[in-house]
Amino acid sequence: MEELHCDYLIIGAGAAGCVVANRLASKFKNLSIICLEAGGNDNNPFIKIPAGFSKTVYNKKLNWPYFTSPSKNSYNRSIQFPRGRVIGGSSSINGHLYVRGQAADYNGWSQLGCTGWDWENVLPYFKKAETRINGDESVRGKSGPLIISDLTEVHPLTEIFIDTVDKFGIKKNIDYNSGSQEGTSTYQNMIKNSSRWSAADAYLKPILKNQNFKLIKNSLAFKLLLNKNKIESVLFEKKNKRYKVLIKKEVILSAGSINTPHLLQISGIGNKEELEKIGVRCLHHLPEVGQNLKDHYAVRIAMRAKGISTYNEKSRGLYLLNEIFKYIFLKKGMLTTPVSSAGVFAKTKSELENPNVQMLFAPASYQSVNVGTAKLEKLPGMTCGVTQLRPASKGWVKAVSNKAIDPPEIQPNYLDNEFDKQTIVEGIKLVRKFFSSSPLKDYCIEETIPGKNISSDEQLLNYAQKNGSTIYHPIGTCRMGSDQSAVVDLRLKVNGVKNLRVIDASIMPEMVSGNTYAATNMIAEKGSDFILKNE
Ligand SMILES: Cc1cc2nc3c(=O)[nH]c(=O)nc-3n(C[C@H](O)[C@H](O)[C@H](O)COP(=O)(O)OP(=O)(O)OC[C@H]3O[C@@H](n4cnc5c(N)ncnc54)[C@H](O)[C@@H]3O)c2cc1C
Repeated sequence: MEELHCDYLIIGAGAAGCVVANRLASKFKNLSIICLEAGGNDNNPFIKIPAGFSKTVYNKKLNWPYFTSPSKNSYNRSIQFPRGRVIGGSSSINGHLYVRGQAADYNGWSQLGCTGWDWENVLPYFKKAETRINGDESVRGKSGPLIISDLTEVHPLTEIFIDTVDKFGIKKNIDYNSGSQEGTSTYQNMIKNSSRWSAADAYLKPILKNQNFKLIKNSLAFKLLLNKNKIESVLFEKKNKRYKVLIKKEVILSAGSINTPHLLQISGIGNKEELEKIGVRCLHHLPEVGQNLKDHYAVRIAMRAKGISTYNEKSRGLYLLNEIFKYIFLKKGMLTTPVSSAGVFAKTKSELENPNVQMLFAPASYQSVNVGTAKLEKLPGMTCGVTQLRPASKGWVKAVSNKAIDPPEIQPNYLDNEFDKQTIVEGIKLVRKFFSSSPLKDYCIEETIPGKNISSDEQLLNYAQKNGSTIYHPIGTCRMGSDQSAVVDLRLKVNGVKNLRVIDASIMPEMVSGNTYAATNMIAEKGSDFILKNE
């Protein structure tokens, strides 16, 4: 087997891995850094076009072949579960929305024992990462690699939606990323000059020519070789050939919330009893590896629109040609808009301290209730999705064999918790209130999904269970904590292993209130700092 050597090995060039690669390669000039990525280049043109989401989200060449296991509270459906397999990882196929969450989320992490991860301590890393033009400098960054922009064009129906929510009493918020999230506005996006600005664009591409850095694409890490509590080497496969990387200093596992616990498990780090069942010798008993999986589960409400044109009509025939022309030559128009253009962070009950639901509005509607693959309708329409921000339901990720190519079992247990069921029903009712308030109601003909016949709480829950879906935010499967049963400690080191860290979305001890890219990016900035400071 051919051997390679390096000081630091990063597994996964995704949202987190690209950050770690950049920070290490830029500072450790005399050390060697290798990054292994299972996917290839991001040259598919739909990756770059903000409205290209539907062409990449289930694209087999850009994705891991994952589905959830059926769970009883979501009608025993097996739900498709996209995860990016390309440089930039899921940040190359995601919905572009930049949402940090609430200050209370991180203060909550701290209260769970994650000292040093409260809002005050994570804010400098959010700021370091980003460039936010016209942001309030006390909370927003000015010169980071991530470009956080506003929509270049706001559809009139999106403006009407925001005005309606504001008049309803959930006020416009000029910056939902300031720590104080409640309100409504257009979404901030990871878009630069009307093109996706992924972690690969922001962090990886600038270091590709560094002498001390090597990116090895299309290579699957399939085993960490552990000896006396130390990772000595990592095995990977590229074009049916196997290689061994010998490690001088550390391995950084950034393979995401599904693959990180999976790779640990098939390498013998996990729950002894479970590992033995699948023929893996347990080398380090760490029972929480793969546990505590949480995700955002969303449902959609759609309206037939009148008196205004929507993206439905613009997405066909000559209208579409016109939009393509505008995008290519002027970088304007419908194709510059991500899948959702406006959001609401709201409380379903006034006595709550913080918003507990998020809405995602689009001046477009789909031919079926299934997210992602469905085509836009011919007649004018609009859609508002709703998700619970901090679900209590949790599940797991479990290896089903000792082979890296066999997808693990992903059991998110959506709507397992009674409180989650109640919240999703309240969320749907709140969206309905927006649609029936002025001025938006003047543009609505009738609700097409789920439709006016679905009205009691029981019917709404049934609709949510039958038709909801992931909005792609798995976290928690390598939980960070100060307790011994946590998978990683507060410096993101795997408990009981000397030279292995996990730096990705899997370390989140609790769900953040919103889309998970920004939090993952912050974790990667902070995690890189621990390595640079030798902590
Ligand atoms: C369709 C979709 C839409 C989303 N929309 C949004 C959004 O609008 N806003 C938002 O904030 N968040 C969104 N997210 C979530 C966000 O993108 C993720 O939270 C974030 O990318 C997680 O980062 P990560 O580094 O943990 O994992 P990833 O970004 O998934 O990176 C993991 C990387 O590791 C590689 N890898 C895995 N296993 C191996 C292996 N064994 N060997 C080598 N390489 C390996 C993968 O190929 C991948 O490149 C979305 C996600 C998806 C999938």
